[in-house]
Amino acid sequence: MPLLSVPVHNITTAETVARIGAFIAEGGPHQLCTVNPEFVMAARRDAEFMAVLRAADLCLPDGAGLLWASRVLGQPLRERVAGSDLVPLVAAEASRQGWGLFLLGAAEGVAGKAAATLQTANPGLRVTGVWAGSPHPAEEESIVARIRAAHPHILFVAYGAPAQDKWIARNRARLGVPVMMGVGGALDFVAGAAVRAPRWMQRAGLEWLHRLAREPWRWRRMLALPQFAVAVLRERLER
Ligand code: UDP
Repeated sequence: MPLLSVPVHNITTAETVARIGAFIAEGGPHQLCTVNPEFVMAARRDAEFMAVLRAADLCLPDGAGLLWASRVLGQPLRERVAGSDLVPLVAAEASRQGWGLFLLGAAEGVAGKAAATLQTANPGLRVTGVWAGSPHPAEEESIVARIRAAHPHILFVAYGAPAQDKWIARNRARLGVPVMMGVGGALDFVAGAAVRAPRWMQRAGLEWLHRLAREPWRWRRMLALPQFAVAVLRERLER
């Protein structure tokens, strides 16, 4: 369903893992995006980002704000599907299925640490490459070559939104990877470089508040949250 013109799929976390398996079996490039209220507000001002989200194979509802909005607009989403929850779940499925993972992005050393943590939890997990790099265009060719040579089934890109999602969209056709997903800070969480909100806060829909308390410099970006709420209520009134 479209939410303020951004597509959001009414899918659960378990179904997403199954779809990833189907995408790999099918072959060809598939892009997943983890949509939250910041994504929606950014896409309304950024036509390139909007086009990336519209062309994505799956737009996951990653944010309590999206579930709230879906109820207000009368088309309730079933479940929040958080990128940070998916990374460990997909790694577990990858170790069962023999899929290879490539972890791109985050600060120097973080992807390697995340890979080690995932491999400890899932013995036999194949990580075919890790690379910090940057979304800077000067590095694009060499990063693409590195990933192509590693032949992963799944590529997680941690460059923050919208850079990571645009990076995947620009390169998806030539990477030779069946499943590509922007994961924001998920590698930091897996590596223990950042701490996620406790479960009770996640369940209460307050993960954003925890993020703001830990990383107060986010306040300006997080103004997108009240702006999103106003836009949703306006949309409801206009119907
Ligand atoms: N990052 C990076 N290179 C960049 C910008 C960001 O590797 O040029 C990484 C950063 O280290 C972090 C992730 O991208 O691991 C962004 O996480 P954040 O939680 O800020 O994602 P967002 O909320 O923007 O989706």
